Amino acid sequence: MTRPKVIIRRCDTYDVQAIRKILREGLEELDLQPSGHTLVKPNVVASGPLFPHAHTRPEFIEGMVAALRDCDGGMTELAVGERCGITIPTRAAFEGAGFYEVFERAGVKHYHFEESAQVEIPLSHPRRLRDYIFTPEPVARADFFVNCPKFKSHPWTTVTFAMKNYIGIQDDRHRLIDHDHRLDEKVADLQFVTQPQFIAIDAITAGENRMLTPIPFDLGLIIMGNNSVAFDSVCCRIIGVDPATVDHIRLAHEYGFGPMDQDAIEVTGDVTLEEAQKRAEGFQVGLIRVEDYFADSNITANSGPPPEPERTDYCWGGCPGALEEAIEIIRLFDAQTDAKLPKMHIVFGDYQGEIKANPGEKVLFIGDCAKWEGELDKGLVKIESLYRDRSTKDPHTAEHDDIFKKMASVTATLAKNRKEQVIRLQGCPVSVAELVLVLTGLAGTKNPFFAPSESVRFNKSYLMWKSVTMARRLRGKPYQENGAYDARGKAAPNITAPVGSTLPGE
Ligand code: SF4
Repeated sequence: MTRPKVIIRRCDTYDVQAIRKILREGLEELDLQPSGHTLVKPNVVASGPLFPHAHTRPEFIEGMVAALRDCDGGMTELAVGERCGITIPTRAAFEGAGFYEVFERAGVKHYHFEESAQVEIPLSHPRRLRDYIFTPEPVARADFFVNCPKFKSHPWTTVTFAMKNYIGIQDDRHRLIDHDHRLDEKVADLQFVTQPQFIAIDAITAGENRMLTPIPFDLGLIIMGNNSVAFDSVCCRIIGVDPATVDHIRLAHEYGFGPMDQDAIEVTGDVTLEEAQKRAEGFQVGLIRVEDYFADSNITANSGPPPEPERTDYCWGGCPGALEEAIEIIRLFDAQTDAKLPKMHIVFGDYQGEIKANPGEKVLFIGDCAKWEGELDKGLVKIESLYRDRSTKDPHTAEHDDIFKKMASVTATLAKNRKEQVIRLQGCPVSVAELVLVLTGLAGTKNPFFAPSESVRFNKSYLMWKSVTMARRLRGKPYQENGAYDARGKAAPNITAPVGSTLPGE
């Protein structure tokens, strides 16, 4: 049996032609000729002047599109598709990243996945989180899937390489399901949707510590491969992380998607693994518990275990990490954030300890699973868990959380509790966007959603998104389809059997 291959190439520049040449040589070395529906999936989780290192760079995608054409083996469609960070329209993320200019120059089609039909993919492996998941139709239909992530660390899953990039093959309502302490299992389950024929990561400027606001790290590499587990394992080793400690990689390996063992992977290229490791010396993954993250701020964070405490004592995939990302976003927009933040206490999970809140200091219980009992200003406080077991959440009826509705509900919650010491925020998870709104409301910092640099692009994109989905609904276009794809995502010849003609939750 041939070993999966990972190719490590030197590239210190975002020159499109230099990238194109390296990617073309990678395709040739892997003996790949794209054919049929060819879909490129970048990571554009966030973009714009304040998020320059969060996304796969447009030059990389332009080089990829050209390289795929250089190696054309009968493509019937070449497209780029993405669902960026939730609540933000992908249109805004594409615009902020400069992708539309690339689409136009390269004459390439593009998909905003939240505007596409969503397709049901059945799962049957014994350790699955649920029996079916949804993915946008262009993903399920792809004959040649090209995964183009950004090389970054991640506060929830340690790293975001090839496999974690799959979180963007779900729209918001489906992405938030299981986005909790079992996020790694969700990411591993998503691998059953489709497997990439080609993977190429933008590791020219990598991102340390966080995923939305990473610290740039000049790694000067393009890494390519043909197997996600092997690929992510090598990327982990480059930064000194044992891939077996990253649960979604370990799980995908256990599910049979590929090897983690270095001896089972062929590494080639003009940079050896050892040289790549030398380049990455000091790279920080930023897997920091929330108590430590806020140790030097006015926020005292306390966390207890999420539900199913036998699995973990900390919800790595949910609310605590969202709070860390939220504060970093606010800091970008308001340099006075830390000075403006009043002293407050934040609680996650089933917290058994004391809350040392002085009179007047707010205590926020974040997430459905927050639970606590103890004395505060006005005497005994008892917070009950509102957590609902995941088996009660049906992806068929999952609803989209509209950002303007969220703004209204957060504003109402803060107004209602203005004089109260305790505020309860529901959700599993509570999203980064909601936490940004809450913290800006409590601290009186600048609100990123109203920043002039963001609001025009955001509002224009939001209106387009809503118009397109409304038009789809009025046309009676089937929104959900099933039965046309197998669990590995290979599209059946015809997409048939629509089961719904409405847009649930819109
Ligand atoms: S409510 Fe938040 S902290 Fe609790 S399980 Fe859900 S995502 Fe995790």
